[in-house]
Amino acid sequence: MSKAAKKSAPAPSNAASQDVAMVTTWKVACDGGEGPLGHPRVWLSIPQDTGEITCGYCDKIFRIDRAHAADDH
Ligand SMILES: [Zn+2]
Repeated sequence: MSKAAKKSAPAPSNAASQDVAMVTTWKVACDGGEGPLGHPRVWLSIPQDTGEITCGYCDKIFRIDRAHAADDH
């Protein structure tokens, strides 16, 4: 009576569930945070033209908050 659960997850590929962090600095450090997504800390520089960058480790997106970002130069 134990039917094996079918693994038929539809897995929609929309980016709605993407983890986006609003930041106010053009350089951000990411270590994946706590949990299974943790990784060695890396520094990411947000390109000014796109205003966002994706962490190569955990796919977290960092988006600059231009209204509050410190304009360093
Ligand atoms: Zn990361």
